[in-house]
Amino acid sequence: MIGGGIVGLATARALARRGHDVVVLEKEPRWAAHQTGHNSNVVHAGLYYKPGSLKARMSVAGNASIVAYAREHGVPVDVCGKLVVATSPDEVPRLDALAARAEANGVPARRIGVDEAREHEPEVAAVAALRVESTGVIDFPAVCAALVRELNGHDLRLHTPALAIRRALSGGGVEVATTRGVIRADALVNCAGLHSDRVARLAGITPSATIVPFRGEYYELRHDRRHLVRGLIYPVPDPALPFLGVHLTRMLDGSVHAGPNAVLALRREGYRWRDISPTDLADVARFPGTWHLARRFARTGAAEVLRSLSRKRFATSLSRLVPAIREDDLVRAQAGVRAQAMLPDGSLVDDFLIDTAPRQVHVLNAPSPAATSALEIAEHVATKTEQSWT
Ligand SMILES: Cc1cc2nc3c(=O)[nH]c(=O)nc-3n(C[C@H](O)[C@H](O)[C@H](O)COP(=O)(O)OP(=O)(O)OC[C@H]3O[C@@H](n4cnc5c(N)ncnc54)[C@H](O)[C@@H]3O)c2cc1C
Repeated sequence: MIGGGIVGLATARALARRGHDVVVLEKEPRWAAHQTGHNSNVVHAGLYYKPGSLKARMSVAGNASIVAYAREHGVPVDVCGKLVVATSPDEVPRLDALAARAEANGVPARRIGVDEAREHEPEVAAVAALRVESTGVIDFPAVCAALVRELNGHDLRLHTPALAIRRALSGGGVEVATTRGVIRADALVNCAGLHSDRVARLAGITPSATIVPFRGEYYELRHDRRHLVRGLIYPVPDPALPFLGVHLTRMLDGSVHAGPNAVLALRREGYRWRDISPTDLADVARFPGTWHLARRFARTGAAEVLRSLSRKRFATSLSRLVPAIREDDLVRAQAGVRAQAMLPDGSLVDDFLIDTAPRQVHVLNAPSPAATSALEIAEHVATKTEQSWT
């Protein structure tokens, strides 16, 4: 297993429970160091995704399984529900479409009026809202810590990047060269997140998509303004855009996070504008999909960059949801970087994407809600892994 994020660790656990000996390689000195440790910590309900897609099926099932796992293993979780709010009449048809999609996906969601919305969130601005009971907040790194405990007895290696991969000369398995020697295995699973396409290429595969990193920046409400938000408040998403829009999330510790936006990151693990990698930038510039995407979303992209550079603009977006939020209420918080798979024509891969080859399985697109869905993705990938060598 290459990658010690939630998808890699959950898949390692699934393989271990099926009786396999597992080696997990993680290049960083700690587990959950990248996407898994830099996200909104929301257990999604599954209302947004195309009915029948892997995302739809695995988020609805994953919502239940990750909450049950957390409760069983002492991981903090709170199924507090959320509001999706239409802030103007022209958003109401899209809110209705979302309610219909929730029903198609089997997600308990209820259209409510303004008065009921204000009972949940007294400060919210809404003309209509959707109440989703099964959404919650969790501590995904703590889920990873529990998975690591369950993998006790297996070979878990931090600080160990996979550098090269080749077919074993005998026995039909794979050999992975690391900074700490060569590992021989029956099969390779790639859950390398922001580097998953590169790891696939190391293994001799031409991945069906390329990873483009999108940073999601967050602010936090000042301590004395936290009372403005009781739970989770989301806008009605624009179906033309791949991300959900900046939202407000009350975390388990009582802090209220606002974000994430979406700007192109200048490094695969570029958490700030000043984190720049010439190699990563050259890869992005060489990839034809980037230019198609830039043309298609030129205006939205420019607005996102401006919002990234201006706390005032960020506050203005949030004040559409909660009018009392002002620029001075916001304090910068830790950003995350999404591994978004893109096709050469510039389309963003919407569903989870998994490529297979003999003795190899590559998870090439596991964006949100993959943390929510991790235990479901894990069973799916474990089955594909067993099939890859039988
Ligand atoms: C801003 C943001 C907000 C999000 N919000 C939510 C949310 O609220 N709810 C939700 O369900 N999902 C959310 N997501 C999505 C979720 O975080 C990801 O889907 C999930 O964490 C993916 O897990 P992963 O294990 O695939 O990737 P990662 O957590 O990125 O793990 C991949 C690991 O592979 C390691 N690695 C890479 N290359 C190598 C190598 N060569 N050798 C060894 N190790 C290597 C990396 O160091 C990394 O630790 C969000 C994501 C972002 C960025």
